[in-house]
Amino acid sequence: MTDPHYLDYNATAPVKPEVIALMAEVLAEGGNPSSVHSFGRKARARVEHGRVQLAAMAGVGAEQVILTGCATESNNQVLRTMVGIKRLLISGVEHPGVVAAAASSGRTVEVIPVGADGLVDLAALESMLAAGEGRDLVSVMLANNETGVIQPVTEAARLAHAAGALMHTDAVQAPGKIAFGFDELGVDLMSLTAHKFGGPQGIGALLHKPDMDIQPYIAGGGQEKARRSGTEAVAAIAGFGLAAELVPESLAEMGQIEALRDRIEADILALSPDSRIYGKSAPRLPNTTLISMPGVAAETQVMAFDLEGYAISSGSACASGKTKKTRAPEAMGGTEKEATEAIRVSLGPDNTESDVEGFLAAWQALYERTGDKKTEKVAS
Ligand code: PLP
Repeated sequence: MTDPHYLDYNATAPVKPEVIALMAEVLAEGGNPSSVHSFGRKARARVEHGRVQLAAMAGVGAEQVILTGCATESNNQVLRTMVGIKRLLISGVEHPGVVAAAASSGRTVEVIPVGADGLVDLAALESMLAAGEGRDLVSVMLANNETGVIQPVTEAARLAHAAGALMHTDAVQAPGKIAFGFDELGVDLMSLTAHKFGGPQGIGALLHKPDMDIQPYIAGGGQEKARRSGTEAVAAIAGFGLAAELVPESLAEMGQIEALRDRIEADILALSPDSRIYGKSAPRLPNTTLISMPGVAAETQVMAFDLEGYAISSGSACASGKTKKTRAPEAMGGTEKEATEAIRVSLGPDNTESDVEGFLAAWQALYERTGDKKTEKVAS
């Protein structure tokens, strides 16, 4: 096996070295931010500085940031606890964390369809809203984790508000990959997590419009103005804040990363013209491709690429460590066979031309050995 090459940034991006250094320093300081002594005050200052940095990245005030344990928690808080909501309208390509939180919310859940390009159907959303009683919450992700397709969240928010509904977006995949702002999107609520853009795992945030009635999902000692109890993860929050401050650096590198992604797609289409690239005609994250290898199950591909030293994924990473069938292809009208053959490659600042060349060579070898091309050869 060769040295491993990481092409799975949408699962978790490597923690930036500056973030690791800062977190080590903050861990060594100790202290509980709720304590009144000097240790506590220092820890409090770390938390509040991290909050300010994160708020600046999203263009909101620090008082609009609730620090949570992860984006899954933020999504649960929105979908399960917002007061006065009867119906949830979620897009057909949401992350399982949104789907499962909605399903267990006790509210009516309706799915807004997406087209073959992966974009949410705004006309369908408008009619769904018109048929409601005005106590709806719409949840449409900003960028899809599997395909990278960027959703028309601003337009969806306009429709939601015109119908008196609230608008939430899971913006987890956006920071460092595309520029965005909370106010420009026009949303009421936004979920974020640090580990997708160079911060640590296990720290997330729920951003909200000023003066909203936000109920706790985790009740207890009253931290985060009683909207998220539990001692703050001080070092993780400091790391989250620094990663947010470093987002412009990552954005500046996206042009090169997009060129690498485009080369992967062009070369694969030349090798296997029947490969399908999901969402290619829609606006997409510059680092992401969801692409099928005809005739080869995604799980086989993930294992074969891993043996060659290339870390890619099939669908969302899930807690059991098993790979799950990707959700986007079927929502986008793909066949079940196509859905089981799609893998996600998601690149980041550490990737180079040589990673791409090695990955393409591994693709070609696997496709010629195992894919539909092999079947054709045998048949002729
Ligand atoms: N939403 C999207 C779009 C994601 O890609 C992920 C991560 O896989 C999550 C939510 C969950 O984030 P967390 O791991 O912080 O719970």
